[in-house]
Amino acid sequence: MAQQLASVCPLDCPDTCSLTVTVEDGKITKVRGSEANPLTKSAICSKVSKLYPDFVHGSNRLTQPLRRIGPKGEGKFEAISWDQAMDLIHEKFQDAIDKYGPETIMPLNYAGPHGMLAGGSMDLRFFHQLGATVLSRRPLCGGIKSEAWAGTFGAIAGVQMTDLEQSDMIVVWGNNVSYSNLHLAPVLQRLRDRGGKVVVVDPKRIKVAEQADLHLALRPGTDIVLAFALAAELERRGAFDTDFIARMVEGA
Ligand code: SF4
Repeated sequence: MAQQLASVCPLDCPDTCSLTVTVEDGKITKVRGSEANPLTKSAICSKVSKLYPDFVHGSNRLTQPLRRIGPKGEGKFEAISWDQAMDLIHEKFQDAIDKYGPETIMPLNYAGPHGMLAGGSMDLRFFHQLGATVLSRRPLCGGIKSEAWAGTFGAIAGVQMTDLEQSDMIVVWGNNVSYSNLHLAPVLQRLRDRGGKVVVVDPKRIKVAEQADLHLALRPGTDIVLAFALAAELERRGAFDTDFIARMVEGA
């Protein structure tokens, strides 16, 4: 009999969409978004809605530990039990530590599916206890993004989705919303429905630009000129909120 179960997306993605998962005879048959998370409001990306049942039950899913039995790259493995896998890892770790000391072990992991066990809690305790090398494990994608953000805006968080819902105008600057900001798209639609304006700054006529009130198709690399021009025009019109800037803006 099919059951509808409440769940949350376990992928390494900050959106944390709430899900309703249909399970029949112990197998996931359907995954769709649910209303439980008011920010994601039933919208989920297609890789999860279309591919997740296969990700869990597909033929390539690893269901037990495999030990390589041929040269690297040959792709030959044999199935072993979890006890055998644990013993093997313990033996290899111990050999390496005996020969070179604990710092010869360096964890090269990140959060994987987010959660208390994977997201820098129990895994870090384990490696610290071992005396392993400590590595800054920020992911390539997120680490680069965070540096770019901090370098541009300073030490502030992004705009809250709940604040966006209060806006009269949203400027989408260098953000291909339709493909990489799934949950912003309905916010823009609601803004348009209540008579607000959407401005898109992007060299390409991306999908969200087609629906915008104004699309500024800059030449790549000239964003900074537009930013300075906007700042100069706001200053000329006396439109800056000087109190806010004095309190909240670094480097002003
Ligand atoms: S956008 Fe996709 S990957 Fe991210 S939390 Fe939602 S369903 Fe998961």
